[in-house]
Amino acid sequence: MALTGLEIYKQLPKTNCKDCGFPTCLAFAMKMATGQVALEKCPHVTAEAKAALESASRPPIQLVTIGTNENEIKIGNETQLYRHEERFHRPAAVAVRISDTLDEAAIAKRAEAVGRLAFERVGTKIKVNLVAVCNESGDAARFEKAAALSAEKSGLACLLMSATAGNLEKAAAALPAKRPLLYISDPLQAEAAAKVAKDNDCPLAVRADGVEAFAELTPKLGSAGVDQLVLDPGTRDLKSTLEALTLIRRLALKGFRPVGYPAIAFTTAKDLTMQAIEASTFIAKYAAVLVTDAIEPWQMLPVLTTRQDIYIDPQKPVAVEPKLNAIGEVTDSSPVLVTTNFSLSYYSVEGEVEASRMPAYILSVDTEGTSVLTAWASDKFNAETITEAMKKSAVEEKVSHRQLVIPGFVAVLSAGIEDESGWSVQVGPKEASGIPSYLKKQWKVQDTAN
Ligand code: SF4
Repeated sequence: MALTGLEIYKQLPKTNCKDCGFPTCLAFAMKMATGQVALEKCPHVTAEAKAALESASRPPIQLVTIGTNENEIKIGNETQLYRHEERFHRPAAVAVRISDTLDEAAIAKRAEAVGRLAFERVGTKIKVNLVAVCNESGDAARFEKAAALSAEKSGLACLLMSATAGNLEKAAAALPAKRPLLYISDPLQAEAAAKVAKDNDCPLAVRADGVEAFAELTPKLGSAGVDQLVLDPGTRDLKSTLEALTLIRRLALKGFRPVGYPAIAFTTAKDLTMQAIEASTFIAKYAAVLVTDAIEPWQMLPVLTTRQDIYIDPQKPVAVEPKLNAIGEVTDSSPVLVTTNFSLSYYSVEGEVEASRMPAYILSVDTEGTSVLTAWASDKFNAETITEAMKKSAVEEKVSHRQLVIPGFVAVLSAGIEDESGWSVQVGPKEASGIPSYLKKQWKVQDTAN
């Protein structure tokens, strides 16, 4: 079981030297007890104390690394049950299944499609991480070929899934130095698969039916030198899997070491919409690896969006760089729209300007990543900050007119901006969705009138 803060404190030097970045040894001990700081941060701890504190310095959920180089994925090392308590740190790895019963052309085609499942959302690339090759044929040679082909065509790290340790060994050998995640579906072969994982320096996912079964299995695998483990609770329907994932997470965070590993979950629905719903649900609670058949972009986008939203730090607004952005082939008569540097606000405006097909400038004002109304209410989006941003961006050198389009929700700022900047203000639509129609129908009239 994990040690308490006071138990850890007893082992520390108690000099309050602050070298760890905490004001006192007690503060350090309390943070360490919750898994938020590692013992290595204290350079003065003795070897005896280090040994005594070993269990406390290990994170409640083991950090597991899959893949290498640009395909490296780290999962686990989470410290919270609820995101609002601090944040979730390591986004779940999303894997799309490919069966080795397909012929080579079909495997290559599907792997390429998996590799293309990437999108840009609020300025960030979101993508599928793994190609999950399933040894449904039971044949070692087929599995080996499918693994090599899937890795090559997708360009992604691999999850190799088989009921046979020997087949995993062959497929792992086909991906030298790529560190695939090995998954053994037969619990009776877990120890043999652990040897394969150890020999090939790969993480291993094991299946066991329930916490009691893991309590027996994972210490054995740990003693065999395999601690890069991922747990499959064996459930295959939405309700049972959600319950199992939650139970594992709760027990792990309470310090129950046998389940202190990231968990893997599988979607099983045949219906395409349900696949996406299952996938999003498991990502929300608490799969660290999600395996699905969902390969259509319309299925995957909501899944990856859910993941992005859940793993964003809720205490840090997602912001874009505050600056003047030229959208399309702008000229000196292009409209100038102003918004805040909150990502969702900015990209909503940008998307609608693009949809209007009218080149325009968008000035994003530094509001510390807050939205238009929030920034206005906290006095970060006002006549002074907007005018300051206009001056800083030298927008007056870019356009020959002096008209600024402001969001409809802050029409009240019009007079102040006109006084501060000397520009005339046009009140745009309240919602970004109104921008295309506004630019086509109203901007032209006002520009001509000017
Ligand atoms: Fe205490 Fe070690 Fe931190 Fe110094 S570095 S305050 S000795 S825990």
